[in-house]
Order: sequence, then structure tokens, then C-alpha cells
Amino acid sequence: MASSSAPLVIVGASYAGVQLAAAARELGFDAPIVLLGDEPHAPYQRPPLSKGLLAGKTGVDQLALRGPDFYAGQGIDLRLGVRAMALDLAAQRVRLADGSHLGYGWLALATGARCRPLPVPGTDLQGVHQLRTLDDALAVQQALGRCTRACVIGGGFIGLEVAAALTTAGAQVTVIESQARLLARSFPASMSDYVAAAHRRRGVALELDRGVRALQGSQGRVEAVLLDDGRRLDCDLVVLGIGVLPNVELAQEAGIECAGGILVDALGRTGAPNVLAAGDVANMAQPPFPGGPARMRLESIQAANDGARAAASVLVGRPQPLGAVPWFWSEQHDLKFQMAGLPAADDAVVLRGDMDSDRFTLFYLRDGAVAAAHSVNRPAEHMLARKLIAQRAHIPSEALADPAADLKPYSIPRPAG
Ligand code: NAP
Repeated sequence: MASSSAPLVIVGASYAGVQLAAAARELGFDAPIVLLGDEPHAPYQRPPLSKGLLAGKTGVDQLALRGPDFYAGQGIDLRLGVRAMALDLAAQRVRLADGSHLGYGWLALATGARCRPLPVPGTDLQGVHQLRTLDDALAVQQALGRCTRACVIGGGFIGLEVAAALTTAGAQVTVIESQARLLARSFPASMSDYVAAAHRRRGVALELDRGVRALQGSQGRVEAVLLDDGRRLDCDLVVLGIGVLPNVELAQEAGIECAGGILVDALGRTGAPNVLAAGDVANMAQPPFPGGPARMRLESIQAANDGARAAASVLVGRPQPLGAVPWFWSEQHDLKFQMAGLPAADDAVVLRGDMDSDRFTLFYLRDGAVAAAHSVNRPAEHMLARKLIAQRAHIPSEALADPAADLKPYSIPRPAG
């Protein structure tokens, strides 16, 4: 068991920060842990912010990431509303917003990401929102009551989940996306086309391959979105969901190497001694997978949790690198999307099920083995797909395409040799 009197200081109290603290304790790390969060709220779950909270199905009191006694019970000193301003790597200390310093034995940066700003006039008008934090979501929820027409800028996961929630709440919604198709970063064209058709069938209007020139309003309140083709879309609410930027500044200003995030190895170690990073801010070396990326900044809860666990293993001297198949999910209208693995552009794609029925899985094959899968309303198939990907299972395309064929036998590990 590692023991030291200098604390582990974790900057950032969302999924990665909380998981790092929890996993450190689980593994027997017994030095003090200080967990700094700059928001006033205790760590909370984010997925309901763009789904259940907006739909009125999830209350704020249901969002806590851990029970109220967890932090004290685990000897984790959770400090809320406290912002880290600078790192002094030589002296192993963090400068806080009130000018005080906090010494560390280990430092973990879990500073997350912030919304990318939309660089056009009018984003400061009332009725223009972003959605990342609990306070952002509460502001959108409040605005929803008096909203009849909404424009959502960005057709990524945030934009589409918000569009679904606003439509369900009775608003007329238009999603404006600069790419020619939705979710272009995550999905191949066939899946993007399916998502677009599914949203249109449920009443969402889409403007694809379309830029925004300005947000317009009067008396300080938004009234329209001016598109780059000169059209004006009237609206009383605008939600921006155009991606995020990693919060690398603390690390960068301290001289820690960053490139599209803080560069870390598969154990979450940065280039600086005794400094770890995890979560949305970390550009992490990935476990080897044929045709997979050598490193990436994966914006998902699973990546935050697994990256934090890997980093925690370093603290106790029993390094356990990242090994899991990436997965994440999204809920839009009555559709539950579940994604496993990372598809590549030239994977062969096999459809299992019927897209028109909104129940299907797309399997992606690389060198004949299952490399990724995207499911809609097929939770059991998604769970199986994760095992198939981990096994790199070779399955004949005819069996994959036949919903009646049993795929479970392919998920059983093959004997070595
Ligand atoms: P995102 O997935 O990056 O999608 C943003 C989309 O907006 C991209 O298609 C982007 O195109 C487009 N865009 C960029 N600038 C634009 C502009 N000026 N006008 C119109 N469209 C523009 O990011 P997000 O949806 O904002 O989500 C933010 C983060 O939350 C991500 O990390 C996401 O993974 C996470 N999240 C996850 C879930 C989930 O897993 N269920 C749900 C919600 C949010 P380019 O790619 O060309 O920039």
C-alpha cells in the first residue's frame, strides 16, 4: 500500500476526477486526497442534462454522482467552488484562485472540456444557450417553458439530444449543421442518413451543410438565426452544441506537453513527474487494436472512468493500462443508440435487422473480424458486440446479417495456441 503524507491533488470533480479518487482508495492508496471542483455543485451526472432533465423526467436531486457520505467516508476532501489557477511543477504545488497554495505528492489533471464558442455576432443575446454544465441545463429548462420555435446549432450528440427533448416539449425545432451530414465525427454516412431520416420523421427540421452568419434579436433577446445563404429562421431559443475544447491551459502554461489535449501514455502519465491526467482533457495512448488510432482524446464517460482507473493504478505502483473496448450511448426521441469500438473508413459494414423498424445493429468488420458496432434499440446485441469486438471474433457476414442466427458462440474466447 502506497503511503505518503503529501496529498494527491485532483483538479476537476467530474467523472474522471471522482473516479480517480474512488479508484485510488479502492486500490489502497492511503495518502490524503483533495478533489477540487470549480462549480458550486457536488459532482453530478451529465447524461441526463440533455435528456431527462430537459424532459422533466429527472430531477436535480437525482443527479448526484456519488451519495452525500461518499467523499467524507473515503477520506476525500472535496472542495467545491475552488479554481486552480497555476501549477508550480518544481515546487509541487497548485496556486488557487484565493492566492493560497496547495502542495502535492501526486497531481491529477481532470479539467475536462468547455463548449466551443460560435464566432458570429449575437451570441450574447438572451435566449442563446450552451449545454455543458448543470447551470447551463437549468437555464435551458427554464427557457423551454416559453419556447415555441428553437434553433439548435450543431448536429452532434448534444444538438440531437436537445433537439429531441425540445420537440417532445412541443417546440418546433431546426438543427443547423455545418457538415453535409449529422454526427459525421462518430458515424459513417449510412448511419448519418438513418439518423437524419429518424429526426425528420419525428418532426425535427434539418439544415445540413449550412453555416450561421449571425444571431439576430431586438431588445437584447434573440429572434432569429441568419443562415449563410441569407435566409432567416425565426426562433425564441437558440442552443449551441458545436463541440468542445479541452481545458489544457493549466498544463500548457506549466510546460506540460499538450497536442489536442494533454498528452498521456496508456496509464494516464503526462510528461511531468508525478502528474497524471484523465478524462476529456487527456489525449491518451490507446491499447493496440488493428487499424485503431495510436492515441486519441475520447469524449465519453467510459473513457473518463477507464482512464482514471489506469491513472489510479500508477499511484499504488501496480500499473494496469487501459484495455477496454470504447463504448458510449445516446438517447434521442424513442431511439437508444449504443456504440462500441471505433469504426474506420474502409471497414466492411453489415446490417443486422431493419433500419425502418428502428431496431438494428451495424457491424463493422476489419480484416474479417468484428471491430465496431452501432446499435439502435438493440441493448442485448450491443452487450454481445462488446464481447465480439474484444475477442476480434471472425463471423461469416451471412450469420451477422441474419437476426435469427445465434452470435453468442462467437463471443466465447478461443483457446490460446
Ligand atoms: P460534437 O459531437 O463535436 O458535435 C458538434 C457538431 O457541430 C459537429 O458536427 C460540428 O462539425 C458541428 N459544428 C461545428 N461548428 C458549427 C457551426 N458553426 N455551425 C453548425 N455546426 C457546427 O459536439 P457536441 O454535440 O457539442 O457535444 C459536446 C460533447 O459532449 C462531446 O464531447 C460529446 O461527445 C459529448 N456528449 C456526448 C453524449 C453522448 O455520448 N450521448 C451526449 C451529449 C454530449 P465539425 O465536426 O465540423 O466541427
